[in-house]
Amino acid sequence: MCGADNASAGDAASMGGLLCPRCRSSLTPKPFGRASIHACGSCRGIFVGAIQFSMIIHDYVAGVELPLGALPVNPPSAHPEQDVAKVLPIVTCVACVREMDRTNFASRSGAIVDVCSKHGIWLDAGELVPMLHFVKTRADLGKVPLTEAELATERELGRERAESDVRVSLLEITLEKMTRAPPYDVR
Ligand SMILES: [Zn+2]
Ligand SMILES: [Zn+2]
Repeated sequence: MCGADNASAGDAASMGGLLCPRCRSSLTPKPFGRASIHACGSCRGIFVGAIQFSMIIHDYVAGVELPLGALPVNPPSAHPEQDVAKVLPIVTCVACVREMDRTNFASRSGAIVDVCSKHGIWLDAGELVPMLHFVKTRADLGKVPLTEAELATERELGRERAESDVRVSLLEITLEKMTRAPPYDVR
């Protein structure tokens, strides 16, 4: 019998069985503004469901005060990009256990994140705040202007996406995918 199973289908996360994809500790659901996040007390990473994440982004861009100070942070490192991008292995989604897509936009926002386009986003300690700043800046400005160095890199790489005024970050593509029609949300 599943007497304790009063959660709706696909809402297994609310039963508290999620494990940290980084260190396998239990994730603890925590309120964050009107959304909720799943926090790891050991490695201090957080998992945020797709709908919850879009809610957080929406509120932050709208100027709603969020408890950013309560977020765990990592002590600053001399080479944070290397630490995160090269040392940490790709994680698996807490909901579907598929390998997540690593979205690297470090040069734009200072954050490198692992995303499941169906379920949500894994953020290691300290990644949410720079990401929120990045998204808000883009929303405020319409776009974050490319630096000269970045323009040069784009030209060198000959990317088709180098049309700078319509340059779309991987994050935004991912966010769009995540928020368009997620099958369910991890709360
Ligand atoms: Zn952990
Ligand atoms: Zn997933």
